[in-house]
Amino acid sequence: MRVRDILKERDLAISFEFFPPKSHQEEEALFENLERLKKWNPAFVSITYGAGGSTHDKSLEIAYTMKEQGLNVVAHLTCVGATKEDLARTLDWLAERGIENILALRGDPPQGEKTFRPVPGGFRYAYQLVEFIKRGWDFCVGVAGYPEGHIENPDKEADLRYLKLKVDKGADFVVTQLFFDNRFFFDFLKRAKAIGIKVPIIPGIMPITNLKQVMRFTQLCGATIPRALLEWLEEGSTPEEVRRRGIEHAHLQCKELVERGIKALHFYTLNRSRATEEILTRLLGEPEV
Ligand SMILES: Cc1cc2nc3c(=O)[nH]c(=O)nc-3n(C[C@H](O)[C@H](O)[C@H](O)COP(=O)(O)OP(=O)(O)OC[C@H]3O[C@@H](n4cnc5c(N)ncnc54)[C@H](O)[C@@H]3O)c2cc1C
Repeated sequence: MRVRDILKERDLAISFEFFPPKSHQEEEALFENLERLKKWNPAFVSITYGAGGSTHDKSLEIAYTMKEQGLNVVAHLTCVGATKEDLARTLDWLAERGIENILALRGDPPQGEKTFRPVPGGFRYAYQLVEFIKRGWDFCVGVAGYPEGHIENPDKEADLRYLKLKVDKGADFVVTQLFFDNRFFFDFLKRAKAIGIKVPIIPGIMPITNLKQVMRFTQLCGATIPRALLEWLEEGSTPEEVRRRGIEHAHLQCKELVERGIKALHFYTLNRSRATEEILTRLLGEPEV
């Protein structure tokens, strides 16, 4: 089913993001965790596309397995290292297997490179990929949005105009980068509405379970950890206490989002289920199985 249709149907659409596993063991863990999360009846599950396009085959294989399990899948697709012909082959492959949703991304530069360089015959920006997909295939297309602005673009308003361009080229929904202060998200929604972005914007939530890891992520993507939150987390005397506090914060974030009328939550699961389950149980109660 198409994400834009599911979002219309549900009072609260929950979705989960996974990344392609690097070993057989990791793959087993991914599917075990996915199994545990199924009881929340996800509106969709998504699978990322590794930096530099490095996980192409694995990402597609996992997307297909998820689809075979009866889930609505959003397959991420990036422009990194791919010509239009390469992208067309991937899109055909996904369409032939009944996958209906794509998250169309530019992608991050491969490891060790600072700036994104398109390959000859490829695309420089995600809006071009959206346009390409919409011209040739019948996918429901999502794009990335950045409540705090994209790390490469210091001009937040220009960045928002480029998001609008992706929507004008046909994007059906937006999933946001993680954020830890809801004010960034609500401000982003207001500014997006003001420039005429009308498609649903789904907030991306990442429960903090490990301080070092989250510091690395936020450095890479430019999201802010509010000072008070950081200090509170650092006061946690054990890793378990830090984790507990991280989950508490994510729960409060989700609670406020839902109370203020947000009808979808997208969880960056990091291929684990416990933190997301704890948040959802606190938010919604135990699901009926
Ligand atoms: C929900 C989500 C999922 C993600 N999944 C993946 C994944 O699976 N794999 C992966 O590698 N990365 C992923 N990313 C990261 C993403 O690829 C990076 O943030 C990347 O640097 C930008 O991708 P984009 O699609 O937002 O690019 P774009 O929208 O193309 O923007 C890239 C930069 O160019 C600027 N820009 C855009 N259009 C123009 C224009 N016309 N003229 C001038 N400047 C312009 C923007 O302001 C921005 O700074 C994800 C991000 C999010 C939020």
